[in-house]
Amino acid sequence: MAAQHRGTDLVDRFGRTVTDLRVSLTDRCNLRCTYCMPAEGLDWLPSAELLTGEEITRVVSAAVASGVTEVRFTGGEPLLRRDLVDIVAAVAQLRPRPSLSLTTNGLGLTRLAGPLADAGLDRVNVSVDTLDRAKFAEITRRDRLEEVLEGLAAARDAGLAPVKVNAVLMRGVNDAELPDLLRWCLREGYQLRVIEQMPLDPQHGWDRERMVTAAQALALLQQHFELEPEPEAVRGSAPAETWIVNGGPGKVGVIGSVTRPFCGACDRLRLTADGQLRNCLFARDETDVRTVLRSGLSGPALDAALAERLRANVHAKRAGHGIGEPGFVQPDRPMSAIGG
Ligand code: SAM
Ligand code: SF4
Repeated sequence: MAAQHRGTDLVDRFGRTVTDLRVSLTDRCNLRCTYCMPAEGLDWLPSAELLTGEEITRVVSAAVASGVTEVRFTGGEPLLRRDLVDIVAAVAQLRPRPSLSLTTNGLGLTRLAGPLADAGLDRVNVSVDTLDRAKFAEITRRDRLEEVLEGLAAARDAGLAPVKVNAVLMRGVNDAELPDLLRWCLREGYQLRVIEQMPLDPQHGWDRERMVTAAQALALLQQHFELEPEPEAVRGSAPAETWIVNGGPGKVGVIGSVTRPFCGACDRLRLTADGQLRNCLFARDETDVRTVLRSGLSGPALDAALAERLRANVHAKRAGHGIGEPGFVQPDRPMSAIGG
């Protein structure tokens, strides 16, 4: 299935162009990170509502034909999806070929890093909030740090470069460990990205006052490292502000989604595992493409209908996420069901 590039059709009312599609492959996960999922009691999406690999590829194809150039697979935990390698291989066949990345908790990467690289995956981000086994078990409610670290090394060995490490900081839990986490990443050849915690937990326990801000994370790092900002031109629309550490080549990214929002330069669109388009993690509305996929349309008529849904969805994109504004409401779906 080859996408025919028709240029950048996905422009919103504020002049932003969508080029980055985040595809959630499942809402399921084998960890239970406190900021993302409850310990138990979260209902999974019914399997009949999940898009098949073919349906996902069809939507991605329409998105690439409309101007998307980067595709990131996420979840839930995308490595739990049994047809992941096939999906990656199918999307890697699209022309023009989008860049392909994956955000994962790393469980299972030891086995899958090689096959994924062979299928066409370019890069991975692996989430590691702490290197302390007990703390890892506290944050993720599972004692599996060792497997995650093995998975990271496997990704590096498979050439899925640069291997990035995502860390969400929590006050009094893992924030003091940040300098050690950066030292370890520099030593191992991984690029650390520190992420501000966002109000996406199903327990609604997020508290702006308790959140570790990007400024606080940077101040802590500056006590231990020389940090030079990477030139603005290199950042582009990327959410991370990147700093060169101790003269390079190591770098660290800081993502201030809450205190330093990058909505004005946002180029993202999301597809949930059950076939809904979302313009933002915090979007209030979704556009249903599953119904279009299952409407009986096929061939160019289906592609045209999908392209139309993509355009209409992007047209409705709001100016910003509105966290901190009076009317802000946390989305109904938890992070694991939107796709991080
Ligand atoms: N399971 C995979 C993982 O953990 O990398 C992919 C999905 S996860 C939802 C994607 C990213 O979102 C992870 O880096 C995770 O740390 C981050 N995340 C989850 N909940 C968050 C929250 N409330 N605030 C900020 N980041 C969050
Ligand atoms: Fe699972 Fe990722 Fe959410 Fe943690 S952040 S519970 S690994 S989906």
